[in-house]
Amino acid sequence: MKRAVFDLDHTLIHWGRPFWHIAADFADIPVTSLPYPDHYGLDVWDTVPTVKQMMIRMFNSEWFMCQAVKPKIFAPNVISTLWSAGYELHIVTARVKKLKIPTMNLVFRMFGYGVDVHVVEPSESKMPIIEDLNPTIYVDDNEKDLRVVAALTDARVYIVDAPWNRDASIPHAFRVEWLDQIIQMEL
Ligand SMILES: [Mg+2]
Repeated sequence: MKRAVFDLDHTLIHWGRPFWHIAADFADIPVTSLPYPDHYGLDVWDTVPTVKQMMIRMFNSEWFMCQAVKPKIFAPNVISTLWSAGYELHIVTARVKKLKIPTMNLVFRMFGYGVDVHVVEPSESKMPIIEDLNPTIYVDDNEKDLRVVAALTDARVYIVDAPWNRDASIPHAFRVEWLDQIIQMEL
């Protein structure tokens, strides 16, 4: 059985703009005044407290995390094509506990019922679940998680191209600009 494991945020779904740009809008701070972050704006959270506060509010909000998102281009097609090709499909995502059920509903709405959803607390590592799943392929935009999965499992790892991971070089990882490149590689 081939098994595909996906990250959710900025891998299969997106907000059109990075989190920290949207938070800056809400906090009424010009995006151009923010330092460019390495990954998910973590350094911005610490240096611009109002943006950090706004981001935490959004991360805890069902509206932002489950209603304001859209599937990335080709994502529903990639999921249905892999499903038809017999892949077992999993999403492993970090969300606060109260968003667990809304997140599952979001995935079912966008990608159908063929995907198992695993929700971990944002403070917890995804790795025990991913190691247990022992994926054939693993897809993520997060350089750190990709690096660990590449080291701990035999998965073929795909890095979903984003401005915050463009400098990353992970041995044996395939960088995909469009998700349907995964289909071209796998099938
Ligand atoms: Mg992500």
